[in-house]
Amino acid sequence: MKISVDTDSVVKPHMAAPSQNAHKTKAVQVGSVTIGGPEFTVIAGPCSIESAAQFSETAQAVKSAGAALLRGGVWKLRTSAHTFQGLGPEAFGFIKEITRQTQMSLVSEVTDPRQIEVLNDYVEMFQVGSRNMHNYALLKELGQTRKPVMLKRGFAAFVDEWIKAAEYITVGGNDQIVLCERGIRTFETTTRNTLDLNSVVYVKEKTHFPVIVDPSHAVGVREYVPQLALAAAAAGADGVIVEVHPRPAEALSDGRQALTISDFQQMMRKLERVLTALDRPLQTAEF
Ligand code: PEP
Ligand code: MN
Repeated sequence: MKISVDTDSVVKPHMAAPSQNAHKTKAVQVGSVTIGGPEFTVIAGPCSIESAAQFSETAQAVKSAGAALLRGGVWKLRTSAHTFQGLGPEAFGFIKEITRQTQMSLVSEVTDPRQIEVLNDYVEMFQVGSRNMHNYALLKELGQTRKPVMLKRGFAAFVDEWIKAAEYITVGGNDQIVLCERGIRTFETTTRNTLDLNSVVYVKEKTHFPVIVDPSHAVGVREYVPQLALAAAAAGADGVIVEVHPRPAEALSDGRQALTISDFQQMMRKLERVLTALDRPLQTAEF
């Protein structure tokens, strides 16, 4: 299959007035953390927030291992309606206490426009999941907010469609967007998805959006996540988002791809060495 990309339509809307810096990444501020500047940002945490104890233990561990931002789903879009759908508002009873104690800002998925208002109080960046990349009603509503949005690539979306989806947010006046490559569905089914690092290089070159990589959902296998995180850094991504669980075997979602705390610590040590070689400092949460 020949994939033709209309480069003009992809590139033009995102370019500032022509200048030498037309494609320079415009950094996005998430609380005290900058994504898309000289520093590399690591976002880590559980797939789902399952309990105060699990969330708190994970948050403290990823913070001390060097993560700058915390992830954790309150509402989950699962393939089966019969699996865990997220704690929902029950999580709001303890999220603030944990983000305050760890001094970490939270990134969490908004699955429905009606959740934006309530979630706004708990997150510093909204996540739009792969399944919702084409949910233009949701994207338009997020365009009305003034909070950063991490827009994950649809698992069957062309890069062009992904960039155009981001414009549904920017036309509303919110240009605080971080793109997230999380793997796509291809003929290859050996691993969960196929990580498309081509898209990272392309989007960095052709648009001003910071781009991060989610190796956890891309490969779906814990043992392979660290290598792909290192590859993402080498490819020029602005950061990674990875799933971590203190006891992956007990995870209510995505346990097979969750790094243990010790796996995460080891990954961070390797990542720091790769970043040093790339002359790219690691962003740490400032407070
Ligand atoms: C997630 O981040 O847990 C998630 C559901 O990701 P995606 O939307 O990429 O599948
Ligand atoms: Mn997940």
